[in-house]
Amino acid sequence: MGNFADFHARSINDRDAFWAEHAKRVEWKVQPKQICDYSNPPFAKWFVGGETNLCHNAVDRHLAERADQPALIFVSTETDTEKTYTYRELHAEVQRMAAILQDQGVVKGDRVLIYMPMIAEAAFAMLACVRLGAIHSVVFGGFASHSLATRIEDASPKVIISADAGSRGGKVVPYKPLLDDAIKLSAHKPAKVIMVDRQLAAFTPVAGRDLDYATERAKHMDAVVPCEWVESTHPSYTLYTSGTTGKPKGVQRDTGGYTVALAASMPHVFEGKPGGTFFCTSDIGWVVGHSYIIYGPLIGGMATILYEGLPIRPDGGIWWSLVEKYKVNVMFSAPTAIRVLKKQDPALLTKYDLSSLQALFLAGEPLDEPTAKWISEGLNGKAIIDNYWQTETGWPILSICNGVEKAPSKFGSPGKAIYGYNVKLVDDQTGEELTGANQKGVLTIEGPLPPGNLQTIWGDDARFVKTYWKTVPNKLVYSTFDWAVRDEDGYFFILGRTDDVINVAGHRLGTREIEESISSHPNVAEVAVVGVADQLKGQVAMAFAIAKDTSGLTDAAARLKLEGEVMKVVDSQLGAVARPSRVFFVSALPKTRSGKLLRRAIQAVAEGRDPGDLTTMDDPAALQQIMELVKA
Ligand code: ATP
Ligand code: MG
Repeated sequence: MGNFADFHARSINDRDAFWAEHAKRVEWKVQPKQICDYSNPPFAKWFVGGETNLCHNAVDRHLAERADQPALIFVSTETDTEKTYTYRELHAEVQRMAAILQDQGVVKGDRVLIYMPMIAEAAFAMLACVRLGAIHSVVFGGFASHSLATRIEDASPKVIISADAGSRGGKVVPYKPLLDDAIKLSAHKPAKVIMVDRQLAAFTPVAGRDLDYATERAKHMDAVVPCEWVESTHPSYTLYTSGTTGKPKGVQRDTGGYTVALAASMPHVFEGKPGGTFFCTSDIGWVVGHSYIIYGPLIGGMATILYEGLPIRPDGGIWWSLVEKYKVNVMFSAPTAIRVLKKQDPALLTKYDLSSLQALFLAGEPLDEPTAKWISEGLNGKAIIDNYWQTETGWPILSICNGVEKAPSKFGSPGKAIYGYNVKLVDDQTGEELTGANQKGVLTIEGPLPPGNLQTIWGDDARFVKTYWKTVPNKLVYSTFDWAVRDEDGYFFILGRTDDVINVAGHRLGTREIEESISSHPNVAEVAVVGVADQLKGQVAMAFAIAKDTSGLTDAAARLKLEGEVMKVVDSQLGAVARPSRVFFVSALPKTRSGKLLRRAIQAVAEGRDPGDLTTMDDPAALQQIMELVKA
């Protein structure tokens, strides 16, 4: 066991030596000549001169030691399928997919767009692309034509890989009509579309464009497609941010830096060991899915579970049954999923043998204390590790790193700055660094960003510089656009996004602080707080809450009574300045497809403005309800 503070300090003060050591976790065709080239800030180049391949490190390199060990475990409770691929079998499937792409003329640097449900072929597709040095762009399968079309235009793929349909809660969701529409809408047209036919939804192939995956695969059963060695800085993929705050940004990732960062995170952050099993419940359409369903666990020589289905079907014990069956060691999910499970029978948590499980990691949005407590108690004291990061960073910025030094979690905190991240809290008005404990500021990272972080925005260097970077006294820093506070032990607490900060009569308050306070009322399941323009105070907080027990809330008087109680809670915990002007009770809150609260949209309708770009919104009815309540 090391000392985390020393480990972190070395990663900043002796940066190149630190990362040169970690570069040894990766197999290189040609060793890097320079660890970090930061001669053109804010653009950082990692492991310059090195040549490697992401697929080689995820698959081929393990063949010598673990060819017959499980690599990919595909489980679908939608189609009742379970299939395990060993590293040898995964290697064969990836080469078949790569051969199909080669037939279509896909070469290094070409883009391939992947619009697929959570099936094993999606993993083959991603790995086949990076094997060839082609740049994949995975678009979340839940997106409809318009969102898909903008991403097709931005990535301009030579080939698209898709499937007839996904399935959600037993209901078939056809993909093909959405894809056909999107291609019609897009100015860019792919030359070919490879269709995986799951026989869930009938479709008519477009002659001359659409190819049947099974037919093509049959031609390549013995395919041998070597890895294309690429420069460390060669892009491995592009991926869009969730679109919570506006137009999604096409994050571009390198190859060498990403491989090293993920390889190092497996032991240090996740304590994942070769031969173990990793279960990440995210979707391949999100960054967590890229890094911790596909690349991270495989680079680490683990088996990874790819799960298609809901967390509550056939019942709320399904995930825990998989932990038992596949002896899962590391699990990774999101607070939104745990809140779904919280509504299920708690006995489901004790029904299965979870002794293999070391820790449950949660990321993507604030982990509220009641949810953290519930899952922590339910899992009988196993480590619940909140970690904070972004699509842009590719791997966590804040977490506790039990693989470096065991440390306790604090409820409501995603832990400390991880090695490699030179995190600074800065005053958003003056740009001054805030070094004292318990000061609120914007969470920024001093350049260069560590390996694995975005290189730029795809095709738009200027937007990359303009969006994220600013000079504060003597420093060029990357802004996360999150507002945070650090306590005396170095633990961070995320208070909300910078555009969610409310200014009530000169007091700056994070929406997250008010939400935490409201959540502590026993009858509040979930809540969103936004700042609304107010003539007198500048801004006031307004809350939209989901009650746990709605049976007593049938009339206005009962709702007013609960509203009063909630306000009292905020008064006593944060003071009257934070008290929301109104607390409305709703049945659902508007979220992105990845489960993040769309405060931007709520705020807009609460102020009577147009909510803007809603392409990544999950359930439009939730916003409609808010609009009607506010109007009334
Ligand atoms: P866009 O950038 O398009 O508006 P987005 O920021 O929601 O979308 P992501 O990259 O998926 O897209 O999300 C990263 C953001 O999620 C972080 O900046 C932060 O606001 C939030 N977040 C992630 N993990 C945590 C966490 N553990 N605690 C609190 N917030 C988190
Ligand atoms: Mg963001």
